[in-house]
This record gives sequence, structure tokens and C-alpha cells, in this order.
Amino acid sequence: MKIICIGRNYVEHARELNNPLPENPVFFMKPDSALLLKNRPFYIPEFSNEIHHEVELVVKIHRLGKHIDKKFAHRYYNEIGLGIDFTARDIQRKCKEKGLPWEIAKAFDYSAVLGDFVKIGKLKNKASIDFELHKNNVCVQKGNSKDMLFSIDEIIAYISQFVTLKIGDLIFTGTPAGVGAVAMNDKLVGKLEGKVMFDFMVK
Ligand code: ZN
Repeated sequence: MKIICIGRNYVEHARELNNPLPENPVFFMKPDSALLLKNRPFYIPEFSNEIHHEVELVVKIHRLGKHIDKKFAHRYYNEIGLGIDFTARDIQRKCKEKGLPWEIAKAFDYSAVLGDFVKIGKLKNKASIDFELHKNNVCVQKGNSKDMLFSIDEIIAYISQFVTLKIGDLIFTGTPAGVGAVAMNDKLVGKLEGKVMFDFMVK
């Protein structure tokens, strides 16, 4: 199982980090050891002073594929979930300055929070999925899949040109604006179409 994450997929978020808009999806990976499941607490790692939350819709692949055509991409997933791509922003900034890969800022243990999933058929409109992140009962990030630069199907088509997608692979589809630092004792709750998908503490 692998975790693929899309960067800069929402215009407002790319702007808040002063990043140019990409011509193609930007992707990077996290190892399976990055998963944080079952609402377990997230422990702020010692190596960073600036861990940011990035709430993201997550696609779970349920069929093996490569070179997937965009028009068939919908056949490769039937569930959407919600997660957090925790990012050591201080370290990522240094990586970017030096033109280095992002793994130490993105792929560390427990950096990929994964909540519940919903079947696509249960969603009103899969092209317009509302999601939110609440920190200590205040909404800090609000997104809708219609604002993605690259749709889920476009992402799958693009990634699968380079990387074979396997059953159980997860794609984090990028974060909307409002990323920010977490602190000890923060409570993070993620909602998809109003339904709570995860609820955990930062320690
Ligand atoms: Zn992200």
C-alpha cells in the first residue's frame, strides 16, 4: 500500500504559500508508516517547531491500474474519505530553498491521518464535496472538491502514467486554504458533508 499526495491543488492554498500554479498535478509520496488511524492522538515530533494541518479529501483505489484514461478513472475508486497531510512547514521551507525533496517534511511517522470513508453512491454530488477542519471547535479550513485545479479523475489519469495504482492505495488530493500550525492539546475534527470523519487530539 502506498500513499500519494497532491500538492497545490487549490488556488487559494497555492497563493497563501506563494507557490505558482502547476501545469500538471504535483505529487509526492508517504510510506505506509505515516498512517495515523482510529482517532489516535498525534504527537508533535521533536524535529519541527511548525507542524501544519492540511485537511484533504482522500481517494481509496479499489482496482489495479496503470495508464488509466481519464474517462475510465471513476472505475478505480468507489469511496472518498477525509484525512490530514501533516507537514513540517519549517523543514519544507528549507527543502524548497535548497531544491531538495520534501520527504523529511512530509513523510514522517504518523503524518497521514486517515478518518472514515463514504461510498461515492452516498454522496449528493461527487464533483462538489464539502469538507471542513475544526480546531478547538473553530472552523479553520473549508473546502469543496469543485475548487480543485485537477479533478480526482485527472489526478488518477496523470499519476498512473508514472506509477501503477494498486488496491488499497490512498491518494490525498490536496488542501484548501487555511493551513496553520497545531499545538499541544489542540482538538482536530474533520467533517465531510457535515459528517464527522475524524476527531483526535494533538499531544
Ligand atoms: Zn497536502
